[in-house]
Amino acid sequence: MGGLIIAPKARIFHGHDWVYGTEVRTVYGDPQPGEVVALKDQRNRFLGSAIYNPQSQIVARRFSRRKQVLDADFFRRRIRQAIEFRERRLPGEELLRLVWSESDGLPGLIVDRYRDVLVVQTLTLAMHLHEPEIVAALCELLQPTCVLVRNDAAVLAAEGLEQETHVAHGSLPPPFVANARGLKFEVDPGRGQKTGLYLDQLDNYAQVARHAMGKRVLDCFCNQGGFALACAQAGTAAVTAVDISEAAVESAQRNAQLNEVRLNAVVANAFDLLKAESEKVRNGAEPKWDLIILDPPSFTRNRKALAGALRGYKEIHLRAMQMLPVGGLLSTFCCSHHMSRELFLQVIAEAAVDAHCTLRLVEEHGQRADHPVLLNLPETSYLRGFTFEMAPGR
Ligand code: SAH
Repeated sequence: MGGLIIAPKARIFHGHDWVYGTEVRTVYGDPQPGEVVALKDQRNRFLGSAIYNPQSQIVARRFSRRKQVLDADFFRRRIRQAIEFRERRLPGEELLRLVWSESDGLPGLIVDRYRDVLVVQTLTLAMHLHEPEIVAALCELLQPTCVLVRNDAAVLAAEGLEQETHVAHGSLPPPFVANARGLKFEVDPGRGQKTGLYLDQLDNYAQVARHAMGKRVLDCFCNQGGFALACAQAGTAAVTAVDISEAAVESAQRNAQLNEVRLNAVVANAFDLLKAESEKVRNGAEPKWDLIILDPPSFTRNRKALAGALRGYKEIHLRAMQMLPVGGLLSTFCCSHHMSRELFLQVIAEAAVDAHCTLRLVEEHGQRADHPVLLNLPETSYLRGFTFEMAPGR
C-alpha cells in the first residue's frame, strides 16, 4: 500500500479527516488515484487509511484509523451500520438519506431511500470505482426494486469525474407517492433537483407548521412545496408558495392535490416578489401574510461567493421583515457550510436594524438526523434555521 507523509500542523492532527494537497510532505509507494493510502506523520506513525485522489484539492479522505481495504465486506459493514443508525434515530421512514458520506465513514457516497427505490451518488473517485460492491451490498441489505446511480452533481468535476446517470439494478418505476410523517409527496427519482426531495428539511416542515395555525403563509423558494403543504395541513388561513422553477411549482400543485389541501402556487422570482410586496406595505398597504418562510438555494458554493451571498440573504430578510405585522413569524433557513450560524444570525440582525424591528427567537432548526454532524468535520454541519416572531414596539 502506498502512502502519504503529512506535514506537521495539518488539520488531521486536530481531528479532521481530510488532507489537502498543500499538507502532503511526501508521497511514497506510487499510489494510484482512487486507491487506499496509508497516512503517516513525520515520525512514521500511522494515522489511518484514506482514499486518494491527487486530482482533487482534498487529496486524501481518512475513513478508518486502522489499516483497511475497500472490499465487499467493508462496504456491507459500513452500509449496515449506516442503516442501523437510521433505524435507531428515524425508524420506519419511507423517505430517508441512508448513507451520508463522511458522516457514515464512506466519503463521497450518498444513498437516498425513496420507499423501495435507492438513489446513489458516488462523488469521489474511490466510491465511483467501487460502485459494483456498493450496489451489491445495498441489494443484499435492503432488497430494493431499483438502484439508480445519479451522478449529476457539479462537485464531480472537482474529482475529475463526468456527470452521468444509470440504473444499476432493477428498473426505474414511474412516479409514485411516498409518505413523510403524514405528508404525501409524489416522487420521481429519475428527475427533480438533487436526488429529488430535500430530505434534510423533512422534520422542519412539521416544526414550522406547528406555528402556522390560522395564519396566512408565504413559502418562498418552495420547491415541491414541503413547508407550504405542512402548513396547509396544519390548518392555515391561506398558503402561497413561490418558486422560480415551473417544474417545482407544478409538483407542489400535484402534492397539494395528493394531500387534499389548497395552495396558491406561483412561478415567480422570489426576490422580485418580496421587493414588490414589501414596497406595497411600506406605502401603507395592509400586510398580506403572517408567516413568511425563506429557504433559498445555497448562494455560497465557495468562500469567494460569500460577499454576494450575504447581500442576497440580507435583501430577502429585510423585505420579509418589512412585510410582516407585529406578532408575525419569519422562518428562515440557510444551507451552506460557508455561512456559519453566527454569520447567518448577523445577517438577519443587520436586516432587522434596517427594517426597524425587533426579532424574538421562537425556535431553532437544523438538519434531520439522517444527515448526522461529525464534531471533527465542521463541513458536515450546514443547515441552519430559525423561526422568529416580530416583537412588539416596532
Ligand atoms: N423549501 C424547499 C427547498 C428549497 S431549494 C423544500 O423544502 O423542498 C431552493 C429552491 O429555490 C429551488 O426549488 C429553486 O428552484 C428555487 N429558486 C432558486 N432561485 C429562485 C428565485 N430567485 N426565486 C424563487 N425561487 C428560486
